[in-house]
Amino acid sequence: MAEGGAPAGGFNLGPECPGCGEPWLRGTNLAGRYRCVYCLRRYELRSECPDCGAHSTIARMSDTANVICRACKASMLRPI
Ligand SMILES: [Zn+2]
Ligand SMILES: [Zn+2]
Repeated sequence: MAEGGAPAGGFNLGPECPGCGEPWLRGTNLAGRYRCVYCLRRYELRSECPDCGAHSTIARMSDTANVICRACKASMLRPI
């Protein structure tokens, strides 16, 4: 796991898509909804982690860091 290091490309692309692993997730105009512009899957940001059940605060929808569970580092995104 690469954590806390500088992004490989020198700039931050965004959160990784749980489906294809590419860092091309983008927020949509619907709150809590994301779309991967690489594989075109759509995702919904959950308020609790599908892995460990921990709740997250999703007050800051624009902050992409919120798509990762702080407890177990799993993705909080579910395909829709
Ligand atoms: Zn994708
Ligand atoms: Zn979790």
